[in-house]
Amino acid sequence: MSPSVGVIGGGQLARMMIAPAVALGIDLRVFAETVDSSASLAATTVGDYRDEVAVLAFVRGLDVVTFDHEHVPRSILLALLQEGIAVHPRPDALHFAQDKLAMRTRLTELGVAAPEWRVVASVAELSAFMATHGGAAMVKTPRGGYDGKGVRVVREAADAADWLDRAAAAGDGPLLAEELVSFRRELSQVLARRPSGEIMLWPVVESIQRAGVCVEVIAPAPDSVGILAGVAADMAITIAEQLDVTGVLAVELFHTTDERLLVNELAMRPHNSAHWTIDGSTTSQFEQHLRA
Ligand code: ADP
Repeated sequence: MSPSVGVIGGGQLARMMIAPAVALGIDLRVFAETVDSSASLAATTVGDYRDEVAVLAFVRGLDVVTFDHEHVPRSILLALLQEGIAVHPRPDALHFAQDKLAMRTRLTELGVAAPEWRVVASVAELSAFMATHGGAAMVKTPRGGYDGKGVRVVREAADAADWLDRAAAAGDGPLLAEELVSFRRELSQVLARRPSGEIMLWPVVESIQRAGVCVEVIAPAPDSVGILAGVAADMAITIAEQLDVTGVLAVELFHTTDERLLVNELAMRPHNSAHWTIDGSTTSQFEQHLRA
């Protein structure tokens, strides 16, 4: 019998899994947000991914569940595990792609290079952080951001007061403040990891962002052969192994003006910096995600 894989989220990433699923003989089912979602071609359910009853009905009978985005609430992910469904990436790994504060804390524990950061719950705390980090900060909401939504450059701590108040009022807790990194370019290291631990990497790429959105990817990244590629690969492998990531992992990196690599953020699903693998690689990221 062909294995069945459910994808929660009906965006472009789910859509691009359809062709390799057909080729691999996988019965792909998509839980889409609306009838006109990108991946509606394979949608067997249209609903709200925050609706536990709807999600549990969708997964009934599936072998594996994976995702098109990282926004499924943890309580629902845990309910899937309770039902005995194989969830990849596993909720305990996905947590670090869902919550930037959790990710920063864990990567610091692992000794993985990253921008300097701290949790800020008030203007005074943000102001103190900025005073020791060049008078500026990149402030981020820990959860729910994508494509530059939920990040803001702050040069006067008071400019983040509205944001801190709103986050506190909504019970979203504190924000994440990071040093404003001076970078030459942004890189992305993408790999896939099986539950058995086997890892395959694509070459590190350069990703060019405009207004928070990736508009161009150069693969492999120019002038990356040798040490730079080795460091990027080692960082991504460490993260994949230590966080026990399964499926595709994208590690977004800053290549700083003083020649360091710092981790910006993690995605545990196919990533827009690896769409080139459809044509440029023997096995695309979508096929590799399903294989893993
Ligand atoms: P999103 O979750 O919206 O993708 P990111 O954390 O990746 O948010 O930030 C979006 C963009 O903002 C990054 O691609 C980068 O260009 C810029 N950025 C993020 N963090 C920093 C930082 N600490 N210093 C400088 N620029 C940053």
